Amino acid sequence: MTYTEKDKNSHSYFIRTYGCQMNLHDSEHISGLLEEAGFKPAAEIGQADLVIFNTCMVRKSAEQKIFGSIASVTSNKDAGKPMIAVCGCMAQVYGVELLNRFPGVDLVFGLGAVGELERLLVMAKERRVCAIENLDECLIDALPCVREKRFKAWLPISHGCNNFCSYCIVPFARGREKSRNLDEILEEASRLGTDGVVEVVLLGHNVNSYGADLPDDVDFVDVLEGVSRIPGIRRIRFETSHPKNITERTIAAIAQIPEVCEHLHLPVQSGSDAVLKKMNRGYTRDYYLDIVDTARKLVSGLSVTTDIIVGFPGETDEQFEETLNLVRRVEFDSAYVFLYSPRPGTRALQMGDDVPIETKRKRFDELHRLQQRITARKLQSMVGKRFEVLIEGSAQKGDFFEGRTRGNHVVLISDYGLVPGMIVEANIISAGGHALRGRAEKVLCNPLLE
Ligand code: SAH
Ligand code: SF4
Repeated sequence: MTYTEKDKNSHSYFIRTYGCQMNLHDSEHISGLLEEAGFKPAAEIGQADLVIFNTCMVRKSAEQKIFGSIASVTSNKDAGKPMIAVCGCMAQVYGVELLNRFPGVDLVFGLGAVGELERLLVMAKERRVCAIENLDECLIDALPCVREKRFKAWLPISHGCNNFCSYCIVPFARGREKSRNLDEILEEASRLGTDGVVEVVLLGHNVNSYGADLPDDVDFVDVLEGVSRIPGIRRIRFETSHPKNITERTIAAIAQIPEVCEHLHLPVQSGSDAVLKKMNRGYTRDYYLDIVDTARKLVSGLSVTTDIIVGFPGETDEQFEETLNLVRRVEFDSAYVFLYSPRPGTRALQMGDDVPIETKRKRFDELHRLQQRITARKLQSMVGKRFEVLIEGSAQKGDFFEGRTRGNHVVLISDYGLVPGMIVEANIISAGGHALRGRAEKVLCNPLLE
């Protein structure tokens, strides 16, 4: 039983995606599958016959926002339309509870069930369905895909996570780490190269433990080397690196493989050994600082970014001060700062959420202001120099093109004649708080001519 031809052609879909790059990429597969089945993308959520929420529950604030959004769409439902489906992390963790909480939701599905989506949608027309038993996310990789950008692509190298950082829901929502087979990754990279992709972002919750679960003797460096040999691919990025698993061999590969961008996103989470221990991060402050020092010594022009949580259970003023000191010492190019948020099923939940919200906010503001000053200083130091920039698209405001340096700094360029996908050499003419302004001096790669 499938959708009839008539059904398909009159059906439009809208996917609202929350959370990380992995979720954004999963949504590209869901779009691919639906479009292959004949569905058309709707311009707005209000016009869609099918609305899919691809959810995140890393922090409670995200969860509340998503609940609000689902509630608003379900309450506007008219004569059973639109059909509403929920997938992603919340679907996996809450499952059938979502059907109980939102009577307007027709379907809850896990990522292992995406391949079955068309059949599930047909079933959901008759009765409400929850399909989350299978958590084999690797199944999603083989599905069709509609990429958001023609010349830049996400490429998952592993799914799930084994680390169980005490605050984190990911291992519960995404399951244990499963590395994809190296040949499969390289085949996909090769298809992307042929398809005009110039930048590939390798995705995994811990790219540095790639291969540990595979029978073959392969590691992350094999992935970097393999992808770098694919014709057409000029830039390779990767996210996320876990400090406890990154090796000197990987750092050397970043330095030596020309296609690998000089950017390391290395979440530190805290500058205090006592807090890191309670977070179950598996490294100390000194170990982290050593990695950054080694990486900066080996990789010239390396940009280092991070994630930090403030207000973890029991975090004292002194421990927070250690985080501030670490940030002053490392001088990150940028940092995402988060207020600790207790998550169901995690070990930190048992530790109590004892840092008052005002203290969390005060720490957040202080850290954020410190990092803003560092970021502004770093960007200022780039003025007058030339950087390779990949043009990604038009900026939201003004008639600028937005691009990124190899270090992942945002550059706004107003030159005419640029097209997304072009790689240019840009002279940086000024710096703001978050982005640079540049002038394109030379075209290094023009996708229209290749
Ligand atoms: N796999 C990546 C991303 C994990 S989630 C990694 O290991 O780095 C992205 C970031 O969200 C984390 O780095 C952490 O800083 C933050 N985060 C995760 N759980 C959180 C929680 N319970 N409260 C606040 N921030 C959290
Ligand atoms: Fe979460 Fe830690 Fe795994 Fe990252 S490494 S996804 S923070 S458990």
